Amino acid sequence: MDGTELDLWGEATAPAPARRVSVLLPLPLGRPLDYRLPQGESAEPGTIVLAPVHGRMLHGVVWDSDPDPAFPLSRLKTASVVPGLPRLAPALRRLIDWVASYTLSAPGEVLAMAIRAPLLAPLPDRTVTLFGLGQTQPEGSQLTAARRRVLDILGDGEAQSLPDLVQEAGVGAGVIRSMAERGWLQAIEGAKAPAFAQPDPAHLGAASLSGDQRAAADALAASVADRTFSVTLLDGVTGSGKTETYLEAVAEAIRLGRQSLILLPEIALSAQWLERFARRFGVPPAVWHSDLTPATRRRTWRAVADGTASVVVGARSALFLPFADLGLIIVDEEHESAFKQEEGVIYHARDMAVVRARIESVPIALVSATPSLETLANVEAGRYRQLSLASRHGGASLPEVAAIDLRATPPERGRFIAPPMIQAITDTLERGEQAMLFLNRRGYAPLTLCRHCGHRFACPHCTAWLVEHRQRRILQCHHCGHAETMPDACPACDATDTLTPVGPGVERLTEEVELLFPDARRLVMASDTIGGPEGAARAAQQITDRKVDLIIGTQIVAKGWHFPHLTLVGVIDADLGLAGGDLRAGERTLQLLHQVAGRAGRAEAPGHVMLQSYAPEHPVIQALISGDIAAFMEAEAEGRRPGHWPPFGRLAALIISGEDMVETDRLASELGRRAPHAPGVEVLGPAPAPLAMLRGRHRRRLLLRTRKDIAIQPILKNWLAEVVISRNVRVDIDVDPVSFL
Ligand code: ADP
Ligand code: ZN
Repeated sequence: MDGTELDLWGEATAPAPARRVSVLLPLPLGRPLDYRLPQGESAEPGTIVLAPVHGRMLHGVVWDSDPDPAFPLSRLKTASVVPGLPRLAPALRRLIDWVASYTLSAPGEVLAMAIRAPLLAPLPDRTVTLFGLGQTQPEGSQLTAARRRVLDILGDGEAQSLPDLVQEAGVGAGVIRSMAERGWLQAIEGAKAPAFAQPDPAHLGAASLSGDQRAAADALAASVADRTFSVTLLDGVTGSGKTETYLEAVAEAIRLGRQSLILLPEIALSAQWLERFARRFGVPPAVWHSDLTPATRRRTWRAVADGTASVVVGARSALFLPFADLGLIIVDEEHESAFKQEEGVIYHARDMAVVRARIESVPIALVSATPSLETLANVEAGRYRQLSLASRHGGASLPEVAAIDLRATPPERGRFIAPPMIQAITDTLERGEQAMLFLNRRGYAPLTLCRHCGHRFACPHCTAWLVEHRQRRILQCHHCGHAETMPDACPACDATDTLTPVGPGVERLTEEVELLFPDARRLVMASDTIGGPEGAARAAQQITDRKVDLIIGTQIVAKGWHFPHLTLVGVIDADLGLAGGDLRAGERTLQLLHQVAGRAGRAEAPGHVMLQSYAPEHPVIQALISGDIAAFMEAEAEGRRPGHWPPFGRLAALIISGEDMVETDRLASELGRRAPHAPGVEVLGPAPAPLAMLRGRHRRRLLLRTRKDIAIQPILKNWLAEVVISRNVRVDIDVDPVSFL
């Protein structure tokens, strides 16, 4: 009943104001929708409600915008408050709005990243069933590998929930239930869900920091205590103790009872980092990434919201967690392009982390041995503070870097390891040290062709060659996943025994290594064969334990690992990243190779790095050899400044894509014709994207470049408003593009 209500005396009184609320839904809508709340209910902004949309019930959040008072109340649908859920704090709401307007996404799409996963599942009870060890144990043939893993995990003492056990032991739920039925496990009903233990800053105590480590740690800790916004670049060569240093700032936040967020580019490869954290603080941190089980996600999300998870380490999506009292943000390896999300809401987690820090009024530290030009420019402009660690910790020297000129000393025909590299590996292995070969290409060969007719195997859905994976006997597209079995004869000319691999991938390189060093214990580390986070952790442990002599890997070997016995790093194709020629090709190659090189010589024995190159005179190779990265970055900056290229200007890409080429081209040219004209504003394109076809969609690109003092979003908005975008064609907007594919 709306309208009037009778009071005791039977007279009409003014109706209680019906509660209209504006609700942001996790959908690509332009704005929040208005709802009303049931009589007697009210909801402040941030409250999570269930609201009907197109016949479905969705979780949404009461937003700060004002509902339309003129709309007839009776026609509003009713949303109801979901009891027991935390409210989204104003800072997180502002972040969502901010990210939406910066990336030109719908606020609801950004909201979806903040609330989707934890809320869609039914609300958990306050209590759960935990499993512990039972009275008897399986013996003999009953003790299968799966059962043993479950028992091993529970052997540590703590009882675990079913989903956690399933995930940790890698077994089906049925295994655990049947073990409980047989009395090998004991089900503990109604237990409290395990809470996140509090990290203890005094557990191990701070390492005895060197002079500049101490100074940097103190400065960061002081910023945490200050509770004000500041951005610090913490840089220093690989192994200089940056992690050691920023963990002291985290310790300070813990002491002050405030939460810390640490963003890592690839959390799945961070086993060593997590171990190190646990050693320092006694317990592991809360972890956030896309592979968590729903139950763990829900538990973590709640614990972040109620403040019991005091340190969260996560991938970029952790940026949208509902921190109760955030005190510090760290972005480790800030230069990494993995921080850029390329699909859905296209955003850069490093940049948005700075935005969150500003909104929350907390310090943020960007950490890297090879900071991005964007960050360096901000230091130069005085917006960011710089704290530098000068040298490797404990007297470990930086590895010596040399180039192998492939023009002068080429590998044998059909081989990829040049004689000087073979010699260096031989010497290293003879000394009982470890060597690593780096090649950033998965599979056996990046291209297969027919020697008879010249046919090349290409993806039917993408502008890309199919990559041979010999062990799996397939040809695969690394863009869309399309795979076909390797044929016996050429599909074009029917010739047999004419299909030839062109170029190396790690699989092929491994074959060569087997021939050259048959006695060396080899380990291949590639993202598709390593076996997930656990596999990566096991591999790292094997290397640390010296169970391996020679490591062959793709870029996953570059990631922050600390391998004390590794003294030689060989880069098979140092020119690989330079070919693309996009804006940051040089910068990115330098960062990657510097990071790979940084794996060598991290303990007492000195490290050596050898770069195989056809162009050793290239500035990137020269910078790696001399170690003068700063000079290289200055030269890069000078190259970008005059043309107003980032970071000295702004860039946004429009990617027009559709299954129909004519329609796609039509929209691309229409956008080209209506391109904005103004001083300091320039449009390049339309042009076919380098990946002119991706997953069966044709792709065209336009690039909008403006001077730094011109806001790019309003220009984009006006521009897009001038064209009609049909349903078959899509325009993706990429503000501050990192990829130009
Ligand atoms: P970065 O993050 O700069 O690569 P790390 O923090 O990983 O450097 O340090 C490299 C290695 O040196 C690690 O094994 C770390 O534990 C050790 N280390 C760094 N600083 C100290 C210190 N002050 N005392 C003891 N060990 C240190
Ligand atoms: Zn493909």
